[in-house]
Amino acid sequence: MHIGFLGLGNMGGPMARNLLKAGHTLTVFDPSPLATAALVELGARTTNGPAELARDGVAAIITMLPTAAHVKDVYLGAEGLLANVNRGVLLIDSSTIDPLSAREVAKAAAAQGNPMLDAPVSGGTGGAAAGTLTFMVGGTDSAFDHAQPLLAAMGKNIVHCGASGNGQVAKIANNMLLGISMVGVAEAMALGVSLGMDAKVLAGIINTSSGRCWSSEINNPFPGVLENAPASRGYSGGFGTDLMLKDLGLATEAARHAKQPVVLGAAAQQLYQTFSLQGYGGLDFSAIINLFRREA
Ligand code: NAD
Repeated sequence: MHIGFLGLGNMGGPMARNLLKAGHTLTVFDPSPLATAALVELGARTTNGPAELARDGVAAIITMLPTAAHVKDVYLGAEGLLANVNRGVLLIDSSTIDPLSAREVAKAAAAQGNPMLDAPVSGGTGGAAAGTLTFMVGGTDSAFDHAQPLLAAMGKNIVHCGASGNGQVAKIANNMLLGISMVGVAEAMALGVSLGMDAKVLAGIINTSSGRCWSSEINNPFPGVLENAPASRGYSGGFGTDLMLKDLGLATEAARHAKQPVVLGAAAQQLYQTFSLQGYGGLDFSAIINLFRREA
């Protein structure tokens, strides 16, 4: 299939490469010439913007952009996708944005005859490179069926979460829980060690007991507990504190609109915000444990 792809950053670049590997042809656009050149070298065509890309005979368009403002600009702007794309072309936005914006853009697309899915991902840059991302997808059944083979070239788990916007709902609910659970594990590990426990023994107990979760078992925040976790390499790589902060902001903002209390989500957001303000926004989010450790 001939696919348009916009946003060739840390996630979009490797996702686009996997589409090429699967035999699709691509027209790509990113304002960064470096990001574009890497895909052109592999055989993709490029254009000078969303409008030209939309008119380049594409059967589907995928976007992987930083924020809702970028998504609205690329889809709804005068020189954007909707003003230029043919009726019937499938649109897939994999950026992580708030559900209300996702629904607003999908509604505008549907009104002019373009099925649109929100399909945010989890799995990080490693999953994007390996083609093992999880896609949480919101939209109609027929658009979901149509998108399956494309998403399967970039991911392993492709889950239809319901109507438009529900992919984003699933993503921000999960990441809010992840942000909270990491703070909980950080507090518990710091408490146990400060009271005299060995960190590895304590983690072993938690991981065979009721406190077990992804943050304790796979990404334990205490240095030295897991050899391959960011905590054991100075919190480099992994999922950046500022990306977690972005997702918690989306969750608390969506909660505010729905008048839905998210007491722990809001508290976690403030903790990551404090940590980011101290200059650590680039560290893996498990580094939040340093807020609770005297020797850090
Ligand atoms: P990034 O900043 O590395 O890449 C974004 C790309 O979009 C950049 O190359 C930028 O030049 C491009 N861009 C900006 N404006 C554009 C436009 N008008 N048209 C086309 N391209 C444009 O970000 P990323 O890490 O790839 O993340 C992309 C999205 O995926 C974000 O919404 C993020 O929250 C989400 N996400 C990221 C991760 C991760 O681990 N990095 C994991 C899951 C989800």
